[in-house]
Amino acid sequence: EAKSQEYLNFYIYDPQESALIKSRQTLIQEFPFALREEQFCLYLQPKINLQSLEVMGFEGLIRWRHPQKGLLTPDKFLPELNGTVEEIVLGEWVVERALKKLQIWRKEGLQLSLSINISPRQIQEQTFSDFVLSTLKKYPPDLAEKLEIELLEDSDFEDSDSVLENMRILKEQGIRFLLDDFGTGYASLAHFYNLPFDLLKIDQNFVKRMLDRSDNLDIVEGVLRLSEAIQRPVITEGVESIEIGYMLMKLGSQFAQGYGIARPMPMDRVASWLAEWEQANPWQDLRAEIED
Ligand code: C2E
Ligand code: MG
Ligand code: MG
Ligand code: MG
Repeated sequence: EAKSQEYLNFYIYDPQESALIKSRQTLIQEFPFALREEQFCLYLQPKINLQSLEVMGFEGLIRWRHPQKGLLTPDKFLPELNGTVEEIVLGEWVVERALKKLQIWRKEGLQLSLSINISPRQIQEQTFSDFVLSTLKKYPPDLAEKLEIELLEDSDFEDSDSVLENMRILKEQGIRFLLDDFGTGYASLAHFYNLPFDLLKIDQNFVKRMLDRSDNLDIVEGVLRLSEAIQRPVITEGVESIEIGYMLMKLGSQFAQGYGIARPMPMDRVASWLAEWEQANPWQDLRAEIED
C-alpha cells in the first residue's frame, strides 16, 4: 500500500506506461464476464515416462478464448493480472477445472495425473489451502492424489511460512508439488531443500538446446545426477524432438514433456490423442532400437 502511494505521488506521465495501465484496466474489466462466459480453458500437454513410454498425466495450461483477440496464451494476460484479485480468482477456477477433469478421467477408468500452475503469490495466501480443501470435499477423497501443483521459484519464498504451511496441508491430502523451471530461478537448490517438493522440473531452456550446446547438456546431466543423489525424480520439459528424447533416455531421465511428444491441446482432443499414442508412435521404434 505505502509503496503504491509513493509511486502515485511521483507519477510522471509516460505514454507507454499509460498504454499498459489502460490495457490492464480493460482486461480486468472484461475478466468477470469472460469467466462467466467460460472463455478460459485449460489446454493439456502430456507427460510421459521415457522408459516405458506410458502417459503419466497432463499439465494444464491456461488459455483465454477471447471473442475478439482469439486464443490468448498466458503471456498475453497473466502478467496484467499479476497482483490483482482476478489472479487469485483465476487460480481458484483452475483448481476447480482440474478436479472436474480428474473426476471425469476416473469415471472413464483413466489413471492419469493432472498438474496445474499456481502463482507464487497465490501459494503464499493462507486462504489457498482452505479453498482447495473445501473444493476437494466435493470429490472422492483420494482424487487429490492425482492432482499436482507446479510452483515457480520466488525470492519471497525464503521468508514465507505460509508457503510451507499451504504445502504441508495440501500434501497431507495427497497432492504432489513440483518445482517448475528448475535452474532459472532464485536460489533453486535452497528452495528444493527447504520446501517439500516431490519433483523437479528442469527448465526447458536447458533441454531445448542440449544437443547443440555442451554446457546445456552438462547442466541437464548434472541435475539428473543430483536428483538421483537426493532420490527425487525429475521431469524434463522442452523435449522438442525425438533426438532430445533419445539422449534423455540414454541419460536415464525418467519423465518428459515437450512439443516432440505433443503440443498442449484442447481438453476434448485428449481422448483421441491418447488412442493415437497407444496405437503407434515414432517413440516406440526408438525404444526398440535402444533395446536391441
Ligand atoms: P510452464 O508452466 O513452464 O509451462 C511450459 C510452457 O512451455 C507452456 O507455455 C508450454 O506450452 C510450453 N512448452 C511445452 N513444451 C514445449 C517445447 O517443447 N518447446 C517450447 N518452446 N515450449 C514448450 P504456455 O502454455 O504459454 O505457458 C507459459 C507459462 O504460463 C507457464 O510456464 C506457466 O508458468 C504459466 N501458466 C500457464 N498456465 C497457467 C495457469 O493456469 N496459472 C498460472 N498461474 N500460470 C500459468
Ligand atoms: Mg508448469
Ligand atoms: Mg516450466
Ligand atoms: Mg516457464
